[in-house]
Amino acid sequence: MSQYAGSCHCGDVLFEINTTPTEITTCDCSLCKIKNAVMIKVHETAFTLQTSWDKLSLYQWNTQIAKHYFCSRCGIYTFHRKRAQPDHFGINVHCLKDFAIDEIPCRETDGATMSLEPNL
Ligand SMILES: [Zn+2]
Repeated sequence: MSQYAGSCHCGDVLFEINTTPTEITTCDCSLCKIKNAVMIKVHETAFTLQTSWDKLSLYQWNTQIAKHYFCSRCGIYTFHRKRAQPDHFGINVHCLKDFAIDEIPCRETDGATMSLEPNL
């Protein structure tokens, strides 16, 4: 188990995760595509937000279940609460310090067909 420090670009949002990375994922839904998101999944007990939730903005769409957070100041997507598993966070791996992205297998997930409005 490793601990990774996470941050947005400006540093208003700081967090930590504890995980043993086995895979990272991309997703072909319209939101992940436009964010170019590469993510790792962690249970909520493995996630600690060290700064205030007030620093984050929340975006919801489609079924309104997933909670997509981003820094209110610099706009960077940091993490989201997942729709299919609301007790898990998807974390933007590019926010993680010393995370060896190239050494972890990447799986392409199918988010587009989960959308209620696929053309959104
Ligand atoms: Zn920021």
